[in-house]
Amino acid sequence: MITTVRGVRDILPEDVPSWRFLEESARAVFSSYGYQELRTPLFERTELFARAVGATSDIVEKEMYTFADRGGDSLSLRPEGTASVVRALIENNRQRVLPWAVYYMGPMFRYERPQKGRYRQFHQMGCELFGAEGPLADAEMMAMVLRLLRRIGVEASLTLEINSLGCAGCRGPYRARLFAFLQTHEAALCDHCRPRLPHNPLRTLDCKGEGCRAVAGKAPCMKDHLCGACADHFQGLTALLTAMELPFVVNPLLVRGLDYYNRTAFEVTTTALGTQNAVAAGGRYDGLVAEMGGQPVPAIGFAMGMERLVLLLEAAQVAMARPAFYLVAVGEAAGRRGLLLAEQWRNGGVPVTMDLLGGSLKVQMKRADRAGARFALILGEREMVQQTILLKNMTDGEQSSLAWNEVGWERLAALIA
Ligand SMILES: [Zn+2]
Ligand SMILES: [Zn+2]
Repeated sequence: MITTVRGVRDILPEDVPSWRFLEESARAVFSSYGYQELRTPLFERTELFARAVGATSDIVEKEMYTFADRGGDSLSLRPEGTASVVRALIENNRQRVLPWAVYYMGPMFRYERPQKGRYRQFHQMGCELFGAEGPLADAEMMAMVLRLLRRIGVEASLTLEINSLGCAGCRGPYRARLFAFLQTHEAALCDHCRPRLPHNPLRTLDCKGEGCRAVAGKAPCMKDHLCGACADHFQGLTALLTAMELPFVVNPLLVRGLDYYNRTAFEVTTTALGTQNAVAAGGRYDGLVAEMGGQPVPAIGFAMGMERLVLLLEAAQVAMARPAFYLVAVGEAAGRRGLLLAEQWRNGGVPVTMDLLGGSLKVQMKRADRAGARFALILGEREMVQQTILLKNMTDGEQSSLAWNEVGWERLAALIA
């Protein structure tokens, strides 16, 4: 038997309703804010991710599925969504008609150690907004994320965390100050942080290592070293969140590792799955479009891991799709008649699941029950002689016998309206 590749899985039919509910809710919320869907390729040139995600990042160095195609080009399966969106913006000249507000959803690929809830093919959805510079865009995006989470029923225990990463002007001096501070505590840092200290001291702030966390807690904060313009932006954002009555906490340890991230960084976390987990992460990246070869364009975006959201939905128990009508036909003649009737009802838009496995009335009714059908429509020997059909309400067991010419789709549609 051939099985799936390690870290990859099927999403089985019984789990798909949760996924569809999440996808449809996200589409409804994103489009209500004026975002349009963008579908980018699943693989791109490797250099796209090296530039956008960072050539020395763990994602690019250790986790990407990179291969040479038959022509010898180095390609990679996308490990995240933003790089492709920025490429699409530049390649399709959308910088000329700003704003450009797009969302995406779909599979991403990373060669990580598989564990519960973490797969090598996983799913993300996110939004990217190009062209808007002020804090209005930041605040609106956070409101949209929270609206989606409320809509899918996971509002309990959500926390919005925000921070400012400053800009090219104010981050340099801050970074030097942070580096000096961390250097005096170098012995307490983890083996991962110590070597990267000279080129990336900021990453120690969000390191999960115990020693690093203790040092980070006492480190100087970016928000105390912002330039005037960055301080105004951050103050504007907090004022808007307050006015919208969206509770938030300022987390000075919320950072991003790459230089083109600036000003606003945010995360939404939840305790609904036990420990504190991020369900959305985003922020400004005003420098990325220029970094990728386009004209400089201010930009902000976020991404959400869909596996974790689906787990939250299951915790909140989204109702499974049940068949409205289940057609049971006993015997060959009844099967032929049943198929014709079912097609007439479907012509009127009535959903009908027909039992195609056959067998006795009893076994077919068992399958109707197991499928969770609301109504069974039964064509047995007697019904065939009388040219009737038996309609059974599976909830209360009530039955009525109807002539074939009485059971048009309108009659059935009225039952499930
Ligand atoms: Zn600044
Ligand atoms: Zn560390």
